Amino acid sequence: MVEVRYGSGGDAEGPTFGGLDSLRDHIGDCQRCSLALTRTTLVFGVGDPHARLMFVGEAPGRNEDLKGEPFVGAAGKLLDGLLEGIGLARSEVYIANVLKCRPPGNRDPLTEEIETCTPFLTEQIRLIAPSVIGTLGNFATRYVLGTDLPISAVRGRLFRIGGQRVVPVFHPAAALYDRTKHNVLVDDFKRLRSVLDSAAVSDADSGGAADTDFGGDQPSLF
Ligand code: SF4
Repeated sequence: MVEVRYGSGGDAEGPTFGGLDSLRDHIGDCQRCSLALTRTTLVFGVGDPHARLMFVGEAPGRNEDLKGEPFVGAAGKLLDGLLEGIGLARSEVYIANVLKCRPPGNRDPLTEEIETCTPFLTEQIRLIAPSVIGTLGNFATRYVLGTDLPISAVRGRLFRIGGQRVVPVFHPAAALYDRTKHNVLVDDFKRLRSVLDSAAVSDADSGGAADTDFGGDQPSLF
């Protein structure tokens, strides 16, 4: 049995939006936390607004901060290659981060930054309504699953949070120079593909009610 509890930001109160564009307009030139003082560009997210597979990463890095798009550096190339390996293009998925602005020096996100920013991510997930979420690394996984467990303890496993299936995987940046993690990531992306395919069948047959591979009590987060 997989232990699952609610994420800290998942029940955030706030306005809801009719689409990603209106959410982006609402965020505007966000000054809600101190990362606004050091960022170059707010990185909202990119991809198919109706994607069946959504990735959640940690925060923009240097390249992302400059270009305003998630995963455009070396880790982004690795992500593109992993997607290609399971027959998907970047344009077919949606990619967003826990934080929309780069922490200085790529330091870890602070608790108050996560609490302030994640209502935006929660709203993105609600609007996109993906069948499957791939959480990339510790911070995304801990937020979405609401767990303190490290990514190494949950990677490749299938969880259900509300209407979404969640598969945590290593962050691509962690696998750039670690062949062992890279191989694990390749395997976990195959797992993601398999979950995506079975979700399509399950959703068509029963609105998602027929899945049997989930652990935990299936709390509703989003
Ligand atoms: S990290 Fe989030 S809350 Fe903080 S300034 Fe950027 S968009 Fe606003």
